[in-house]
Amino acid sequence: MPILKVNEIFLSIQGESSWAGLACAFVRLTGCPLRCRWCDTAYAYEDGEYLSLNEVVRRVLDFGVGLAEVTGGEPLAQAGTPELVSALLEGGLTVLVETGGSLDIGVLDRRARVILDVKCPSSGMSGRMRWPNLTKLRPHDEVKFVLAGREDYEYARQVIIEYNLARRASALVSVAHGQIEPRRVVEWMLDDRLPARFQLQLHKHIWPPDKRGV
Ligand code: SF4
Repeated sequence: MPILKVNEIFLSIQGESSWAGLACAFVRLTGCPLRCRWCDTAYAYEDGEYLSLNEVVRRVLDFGVGLAEVTGGEPLAQAGTPELVSALLEGGLTVLVETGGSLDIGVLDRRARVILDVKCPSSGMSGRMRWPNLTKLRPHDEVKFVLAGREDYEYARQVIIEYNLARRASALVSVAHGQIEPRRVVEWMLDDRLPARFQLQLHKHIWPPDKRGV
């Protein structure tokens, strides 16, 4: 039975992706091999408690919602994560896995819906991207770009076009909270007719941006 190091398990609304606005049970796993400059979950680098896979699944199912997200930190950094994702799927849930993009998504159950970050230059982590992940995406997966400036936008545009993401999966464009005016990014997207969905992190507009467990 896998043991997982878990930072927090909570019920909130999904703040991002095409699932935004729906009630969602979140499992935030501890640990991440990256150190993005604007990381908003640095508290998950080390802190957490060890729980059995069954205990994590039980707590998620107790919330009584049909959508779950396994996130971090970096969820793929723990060996037990693929089995956790499969167990949640077996429990009848739709399961999103939000990953930073540096580790292989091919280990996941094919029924899982991957939300894959492509790290842009301002994060300081773009050199850590595992590019073969982009060739493993399925149409139900989503690729997320978090932008802090024009250089990031041009990088995201290049990747969206080069990998034909509009056909391969869905592309999401977001802003690093407080780093750039959302309107500027939207205007760039409209000017370019960029085949991507703009999104804001809903939870940061509903609750204080640094609030945990939402
Ligand atoms: S991948 Fe995610 S959790 Fe890891 S440092 Fe970057 S933003 Fe933070």
